[in-house]
Amino acid sequence: VTTFQNQRVALFGLGGSGLSTAKALAAGGADVRVWDDAPNRVAAAREAGLATVDLAKADWFGFAALVLAPGVPLTHPVPHWTVDKARDAGLEILGDVELFFREHRRVCPESPVIAITGTNGKSTTTALIAHLLKDLGFDTQMGGNIGVPVLDLEPFAPARHYVIECSSYQIDLAASIDPTIGIHMNLSPDHLDRHGTMENYAAIKERLVAGAKAAIVGVDDRLSSAIADRLELASKPVCRIAGERELPDGVYAKDGQIFEAYDGTQHPVAKLAGIDSLRGDHNGQNAAAAFAALRALNVAPDRIAGALKTFPGLNHRMQVIARSGRLMFINDSKATNADAAARALASFERIYWIAGGRAKEGGIAALDEYWPRIAKAYLIGEAAETFAQTLEGHVPAVLSGTLDLAIQQAVADAKADSADEIAILLSPACASFDQYPNFELRGAAFADAVHRILDKTTSQE
Ligand code: ADP
Repeated sequence: VTTFQNQRVALFGLGGSGLSTAKALAAGGADVRVWDDAPNRVAAAREAGLATVDLAKADWFGFAALVLAPGVPLTHPVPHWTVDKARDAGLEILGDVELFFREHRRVCPESPVIAITGTNGKSTTTALIAHLLKDLGFDTQMGGNIGVPVLDLEPFAPARHYVIECSSYQIDLAASIDPTIGIHMNLSPDHLDRHGTMENYAAIKERLVAGAKAAIVGVDDRLSSAIADRLELASKPVCRIAGERELPDGVYAKDGQIFEAYDGTQHPVAKLAGIDSLRGDHNGQNAAAAFAALRALNVAPDRIAGALKTFPGLNHRMQVIARSGRLMFINDSKATNADAAARALASFERIYWIAGGRAKEGGIAALDEYWPRIAKAYLIGEAAETFAQTLEGHVPAVLSGTLDLAIQQAVADAKADSADEIAILLSPACASFDQYPNFELRGAAFADAVHRILDKTTSQE
């Protein structure tokens, strides 16, 4: 990226994406000075040939900008005052997404960029759009807040499509964000620690769609619906989307179908029922958003409908690991709080539920409306006993302790159940850190254990 050619810039945060940003800036002729509050990362950067600057001591003389790696203020207490000082000294403060959009405008504004934000469903919608494009033969790059950092994606080319997930933090640091298609999914109180008030958080998200050539906006919550209204008042082309709710105009999911509504009529355009990876009302909104995005690129409805069927889903998010007769094994390890677990519990009728880990505030008490669907609960990790107390008198539960034992017990119980479809569901409503380094490894352990049990069963039969 040549934005800062022949200029001096500082970069804070040398995690994966920070390093790639530093390299991209250096390759574009900038004099980059990097820093991190982890000394080993600074040392590694020096070894990789990057110049360093101690941000605590920098006087900012001669610097044009301070580039912040994604996620920095969340995990690092240092930059708050660093940023203030840099801003006072007149430096521009920005992130890698801003650099990406500047380069896009300069090099190849005709290549379509689809940018996605919202509180929930960003990754699913991003992955789904990338899947649809690839499946239909488009040259497709996916990255941003999911997978590959934006500056590591393949170079711009006129027919190359970019699908970029943006966190609110990345938008906050991207003053000129102007995607070809901007998608805002929804808003709920989250990350308020970083963004202060809900209004401020909403205003940041709104910039992504306000800057877009065409906007797609979820109207399932009040604040997002107001964003759609404001865009319309400003004469921006906007397509409203919704999950499980009819709209007079726009794209929505209802009863296992996607509908396009225009001129006062409703047209069923794609089937969702039967697509495992898009189960649940929340995925209705995600699928509607992806459908609208492909329509904005002029793809015919039946082609989109066909490609939806082959979406493999994202790992650890209500992912179907295996089926064995009436049993289906679902890995929803990403559900690290009660709210996320609620989506999974709402998506199956008869559930053998594996839950627990390091509990979040409030535990699972708020999930009581789902108790009738749960045949039995298998509780693991630190939260096991507390969760057992919450469930007592409502749902049969055992203290399994470990994931391995929980799965064995659940399979044995489920086999004796005569229901037509039974979900053996890992949706822990807890962080994983008491037993696993992260939710991904917890999900992988679940998948391994499931496959071991199924292999054993098959070889015995
Ligand atoms: P994000 O990238 O925004 O965190 P994901 O697509 O990774 O979102 O989904 C994370 C979790 O959020 C899912 O497991 C599900 O519980 C919930 N979720 C997904 N899509 C939606 C949606 N459209 N509305 C509300 N919740 C959702």
